[in-house]
Amino acid sequence: MVEALKTRGHGYCIYGEKIDPVIVFDSRLESDPWWTKNHTLAVLAHELGHIRLASESEEDADRKGAEILRAAKKHMAARLLARRKRD
Ligand SMILES: [Zn+2]
Repeated sequence: MVEALKTRGHGYCIYGEKIDPVIVFDSRLESDPWWTKNHTLAVLAHELGHIRLASESEEDADRKGAEILRAAKKHMAARLLARRKRD
């Protein structure tokens, strides 16, 4: 699982019809000086977005993740996802 983080960014998720969903988060990021708890929440909510929507779309996962965070009143973390730019 840790090896997969080399190619899959800050985290990733595993889900499917016959498996319990799993989110893998690279907690080493939390030792970076600029990293905040809001960044951690944003990554986890993004992955939860993939699972809830059963979607591989990064944009849809960001949108669903931001929705989840706003519902939990985690507006700073939601803003991180809402403002995320993709290449
Ligand atoms: Zn994603």
